[in-house]
Amino acid sequence: MAYVALYRKYRPQTFDEVIGQDHIINTLRNQILQGKVSHAYLFCGTRGTGKTSTAKIFARAVNCPHAAEHNGNPCGDCVSCNTVGNANLDIIEMDAASNNGVDYARDIREKVQYPPVNGKYKVYIIDEVHMLSVGAFNALLKTLEEPPEHALFILCTTEVHKIPATILSRCMRFDFRLVPTPLLAAHIAAIYDKEGKKYTKEAVAAIAQAGEGSVRDSVSIADRCYSVSEGQLEYSDVLGVLGVSSKNSIVALAKAILTNATADILTEIHKAVSDGKDIGRLNKDLSLYIRDLLTAKLCPDANGILMLPQDVYEQLKDLADSVTVKKLLYAIDQFVNVETALKYALSPLILFEATALKVASSTGEVDYDGLNKRVTRLEQLSQDMSGESRSVYVVDKTDPKSIWRGVKMALDARNEPLLTGVWSDVQVSFDSRRNFVLRCSEGAYWLIENKYKKILQAEVAQFCDGQLIVELDKSTSQSDIDKQLGALGTNVKFD
Ligand SMILES: [Zn+2]
Repeated sequence: MAYVALYRKYRPQTFDEVIGQDHIINTLRNQILQGKVSHAYLFCGTRGTGKTSTAKIFARAVNCPHAAEHNGNPCGDCVSCNTVGNANLDIIEMDAASNNGVDYARDIREKVQYPPVNGKYKVYIIDEVHMLSVGAFNALLKTLEEPPEHALFILCTTEVHKIPATILSRCMRFDFRLVPTPLLAAHIAAIYDKEGKKYTKEAVAAIAQAGEGSVRDSVSIADRCYSVSEGQLEYSDVLGVLGVSSKNSIVALAKAILTNATADILTEIHKAVSDGKDIGRLNKDLSLYIRDLLTAKLCPDANGILMLPQDVYEQLKDLADSVTVKKLLYAIDQFVNVETALKYALSPLILFEATALKVASSTGEVDYDGLNKRVTRLEQLSQDMSGESRSVYVVDKTDPKSIWRGVKMALDARNEPLLTGVWSDVQVSFDSRRNFVLRCSEGAYWLIENKYKKILQAEVAQFCDGQLIVELDKSTSQSDIDKQLGALGTNVKFD
């Protein structure tokens, strides 16, 4: 007898056999039991999670007269359930990847009008429906808008974002989830039990982990592992099938990074690349391994989750114990973040090496002292910027008034303010040789000449190339002078 792949041999035939999609199975089962079947369904989710298998079971169950007696499952014996040689004329399976044209969709539209042969429904299962052309989607939409009573469509896709909204709104949508690793492990163990294959639980756990949530992938790996050893399937056998060298190189690379052994990091990366390892894959495997390290570090019963052989676990635990949690978190953060960038990088190797070296040289700790100092400096700076005394004033060097204002602000900033009277009493102008002329009444003149001249000269020189010239405005009368002296303030003393 020809060898049948385990995946085909153990493909679920009833709802009870579908793994890890209870939220969907319960709804579909109830719809069959209550006779409330809709006309269009959309099954979306990652590959190998059971979309097409569930569609096939559902297609048979809706037409099986004995479904109610079998808790909603197809009975497996009647004409509708009989799948031998694809004899069921009421179930039409199509792959949109190979038939995506508008003619095909029109053909469906015509043929769907003919009533089913045996059962109550004529079921169309369209796989990879996102591959349909725009025209085909439009033709399909017309059918979905006014389906005949007996029509039932099950659209399956891995890329739901490519389905037009008009189609989405006509379908009852179900999202298939990735299957948790323990469920996958139990599934593979059950298959091996039925096949009479002996195995260790670590071996089965390693297969389930490599399957990454996909039933199909896990069972395919289990199939490849099946004939590797005559007797009991061991953890090391599974690693052999998955590529043991790569697993060892990941461990070595992680160790080199976490212990900051720069030369080893570059050597290990170089080795992995020479062995033909893809950088993206290397980055992903490394992230997963660091995640395992973190689990070993944080969980009291880590190996209950990781399911590694004791010696492998102890090696992992030793490395985990030598590193801080912060460093591990920092490493995961960096490698996960760089994942997308690696896809678009012109030189993924350089980017990956740089990330590895960056992680290696960091402790993962935040330098709180340094941070504090920098924050304090920033706070001071922002105070200085917002404070009245140092607000920024741009001096217009062509305008004597603007220069005079600049001088005042500079003196204020140096905490040597001019007396209010001096400041407001003075008239400023340029003379013909671009000298800066202060024209003031006697009181201010006397003060400037005796007290402020030097400071003012220095400040004016910043804005003006000419000299500072102080002139007495002689037009002022004695009474004006008295008034002005009064305005200068009571604390002015004349020596
Ligand atoms: Zn049946």
